[in-house]
Amino acid sequence: MGKTEGMEYIFDLAIVGGGIAGYTAALTAKNLLLDYVWLGQTAFGEKLSAAEKVTNFPAISGSGREFLAALEAQKNREEVLLTPCRIDGVYAAGEKFLLTAGERTFEARTVILATGVETKGQLKGEKDFLGRGVSYCAVCDGALYKGKKIAAVLSSPAFEEEAEYLASFADMVYAFCLYEHPKLQKENIRVCTDIPLKIEGDKRVERIVTGKETLSVDGVFFLKNSAPPRSLVGGLEADGAHVIVSRDLSTNIAGLFAAGDITGRPYQYAKAAGEGCVAAHSARSYLATLGK
Ligand SMILES: Cc1cc2nc3c(=O)[nH]c(=O)nc-3n(C[C@H](O)[C@H](O)[C@H](O)COP(=O)(O)OP(=O)(O)OC[C@H]3O[C@@H](n4cnc5c(N)ncnc54)[C@H](O)[C@@H]3O)c2cc1C
Repeated sequence: MGKTEGMEYIFDLAIVGGGIAGYTAALTAKNLLLDYVWLGQTAFGEKLSAAEKVTNFPAISGSGREFLAALEAQKNREEVLLTPCRIDGVYAAGEKFLLTAGERTFEARTVILATGVETKGQLKGEKDFLGRGVSYCAVCDGALYKGKKIAAVLSSPAFEEEAEYLASFADMVYAFCLYEHPKLQKENIRVCTDIPLKIEGDKRVERIVTGKETLSVDGVFFLKNSAPPRSLVGGLEADGAHVIVSRDLSTNIAGLFAAGDITGRPYQYAKAAGEGCVAAHSARSYLATLGK
């Protein structure tokens, strides 16, 4: 099973997100003999290595790194493979979905969105200006800002390459790095050390306000691991960072399910794992209605 690059191939299920919810969905899909693809930036997500001690997950009582090692061993044993990529759009197209990751595309009959929630770096006005100057994807929207001034809020050094990509279009990038020792070097990037507080404007983004100054900008890019679900899937019913789901984890879009932190609190590994499992079963039931 699996796709050969360049060939048209439709998976039964595409799972987006490498965290515990996505992993459990993939593990369950494998056991259900679904033809699935697991797409994510890193296996098990970035949060686990930061967790000091995990004491509330069955059979685990140790540091996040110990949990990670146990998961890694199981993933290898069960041969659950992650296809490393960052999905930038999910589009419903009849009885299938098209998922894009830069130049790459994947097709699947069902999708589980398990992209987590990132609270770091949220600004007042961010939600209000989504699609009106606020973007989460440098590759998708960078070219729209040719010759303009923009701000980029980076949640980790992993996004410096994307900020430099933005600087290849924009005249000036004000980079707010929410971590220490940024290494951004392009001449038209100004690393701003103060904390961004809010975005202002009328119909579109016009300014970003910090504790010390107000900068005129045409757009603000939030470069972080998890973007709001509606920036990824048009027409998806969500309440801010949370997708609205039914008990079977279905969303308002037929064939699209969501699992983990992205469906709401509590933000816990056990809840994320449980939902990953339920979502995979629900995807299988949906496939049966398609005669698959
Ligand atoms: C420091 C810390 C300590 C914690 N300690 C505990 C604890 O002790 N016990 C507990 O129960 N919970 C704990 N949590 C909460 C726990 O980490 C979360 O509940 C859990 O990680 C949620 O899993 P998830 O799979 O839903 O999302 P995540 O773990 O956030 O995984 C989502 C993944 O999807 C990826 N992704 C996002 N967008 C895309 C995209 N467009 N394309 C591809 N991939 C994408 C992200 O990069 C990420 O890897 C802790 C959290 C933190 C931050």
